[in-house]
Amino acid sequence: MSRVDLHLHTTHSDGSCTPAELVRLAHQAGVTALAVTDHDIMTGVAQATSEGEHYGIEVIPGVEISSMIGQSELHILGYFLDWQDPILNERFTTLRESRHRRNPQIVERLQALGIDITYDEVRALAGSDSVGRPHIARALMDKHVVSSAKEAFDRFLANGKPAYVPRDLPNPAEAIQWIKAAGGLAVLAHPSWVRLADRSLIELVRELKVAGLDGLEVYYSTHASRQTREYLSLAQHLGLLVTGGSDFHGLTKPDIDVGIGKGTLHVPTALLTKMKVAVGRV
Ligand SMILES: [Zn+2]
Ligand SMILES: [Zn+2]
Repeated sequence: MSRVDLHLHTTHSDGSCTPAELVRLAHQAGVTALAVTDHDIMTGVAQATSEGEHYGIEVIPGVEISSMIGQSELHILGYFLDWQDPILNERFTTLRESRHRRNPQIVERLQALGIDITYDEVRALAGSDSVGRPHIARALMDKHVVSSAKEAFDRFLANGKPAYVPRDLPNPAEAIQWIKAAGGLAVLAHPSWVRLADRSLIELVRELKVAGLDGLEVYYSTHASRQTREYLSLAQHLGLLVTGGSDFHGLTKPDIDVGIGKGTLHVPTALLTKMKVAVGRV
């Protein structure tokens, strides 16, 4: 059964596989097309594309932009954008600089809580300068402070927890606008993560559609079938494209595999065709 996976992270952000390794895993999983969607960076697309040519796997340039609405972080996926667009890349650089400032601050807060952890240890785990909170979670696991990444977020790293440091992020409408300006499609990632006190999901998605949102990530590793059905009908109701992906990160989310998520994910190939029509690629 042919499948696609349109939400994948590499070592260019907080994933543990290189783009080439990712393509090889996708090949093993029977994935015929994939999108590299690293956080606020698109440099992984080049290597994935050349490895994809070798394996006959189509690689769609993608990105996942973190945005902020009220107290909640909202992730906006971008597809088919010009990954070499200079304005877009300048925006990504600014976002990453804010992230670089933030991670040492999180580690300082953990130290203040009496936890024996250094920023050098976290950076060594990341293997590059693309440090993210999942790496801090992994360091806490290695030190047996917590037993899972989830526990690290629940106790220390999530919004409202003692080591949380807010980020300087665009609002979702800005993120959508950036993607559109680079010729891409903008999609709301994992709607199940959305927690807003002042409006319902449908109200939010309606607002984002006015701002230019093209699609909704309906198929996702942790969506229960009830949620998948709910988001599918929401997308149909509002005339939005349907997308899906595993949100594979490698070791930082070890229970999620490329193409199949937790084992039951199946993202149909047909939705990619609709995305291509929408973006004028067919
Ligand atoms: Zn996300
Ligand atoms: Zn993601």
